[in-house]
Amino acid sequence: MIPRVKRSRQRRVIPLQVRANIQLSPSFHRVTFGGAALAGFTSPGLDHGVRLFFPRTGQDRLWLPSLRNDAWMAETLLQPTSRRPWVRTYTVREFRPAQQELDIEFTRHGDQGPASAWVARARPGDPAGIFDEGYTYLPSDGADRQLLVGDESALPAILSILESAPVTLTGQVYLEVPQTADIRRIAGPLGVQVTWLARDGAGTIPGALALDTVRNAPDLGAPSYTWVAGEAKLATGVRRHLVDERGIGKRDIAFMGYWRHGRSSIG
Ligand SMILES: Cc1cc2nc3c(=O)[nH]c(=O)nc-3n(C[C@H](O)[C@H](O)[C@H](O)COP(=O)(O)OP(=O)(O)OC[C@H]3O[C@@H](n4cnc5c(N)ncnc54)[C@H](O)[C@@H]3O)c2cc1C
Repeated sequence: MIPRVKRSRQRRVIPLQVRANIQLSPSFHRVTFGGAALAGFTSPGLDHGVRLFFPRTGQDRLWLPSLRNDAWMAETLLQPTSRRPWVRTYTVREFRPAQQELDIEFTRHGDQGPASAWVARARPGDPAGIFDEGYTYLPSDGADRQLLVGDESALPAILSILESAPVTLTGQVYLEVPQTADIRRIAGPLGVQVTWLARDGAGTIPGALALDTVRNAPDLGAPSYTWVAGEAKLATGVRRHLVDERGIGKRDIAFMGYWRHGRSSIG
């Protein structure tokens, strides 16, 4: 599942510090990271992804790779576990160049995942690092009817996409979140219809409700571009449904498995 990615030129690890950690709703935290090393950093908004480096429990300092481009990965893997940081991928929710800071919105899913556990304890001054991974939301010119689908891990990306969409955009958005209390007000084009789906303890795997809803939607409005991300089965399931059942061309669908149920991310 390797999507078309628009890479940036700033492919180096940037050391940062946590500036704030705010709980937005039962399942979401917004962590603000800042630092002078963000000078020259740019963000297109949209689903702009970064690798996030953060310390393992017990590490009193954060080791960061120094090699540019994809060489950082081998350099990191060569470190002993005692020095190697955790690495996970997140979306830049907002970048404020004047303040040299950016926000990431984390969904918490208990303490099993290192990132989910780290967010619960992250405090101002804690060290972190990012590596720019680019973005995948790449509709062609004139793709003015769109379908956006995601679970909670893709909520930050979809909110950013909607905030920068042209006012003329039309289409449908299906957003699945853990609880009704996680639903937010959305700033987006008036012609885009947003359907919130809250599991509210239904016990289903994240993404299953959104996949089911898309499959059973009577009319998806013949989207000219679709962007779907979240749990792997949601991403592949929506794509398969659109291609097999609705006759939509594969080239008009961007799909990303952001995480896999029951499997820890590598890093
Ligand atoms: C390009 C990209 C952008 C992303 N942007 C965001 C973002 O902005 N906000 C965000 O919250 N996530 C985002 N994610 C998803 C995030 O990277 C994964 O959820 C990641 O696996 C979390 O790491 P962890 O250490 O908490 O859990 P892991 O160590 O990776 O997993 C531990 C266990 O938790 C489960 N798990 C992992 N993620 C979730 C989840 N979201 N919900 C429920 N169970 C889960 C796994 O299946 C596994 O059983 C993004 C992923 C990608 C690839």
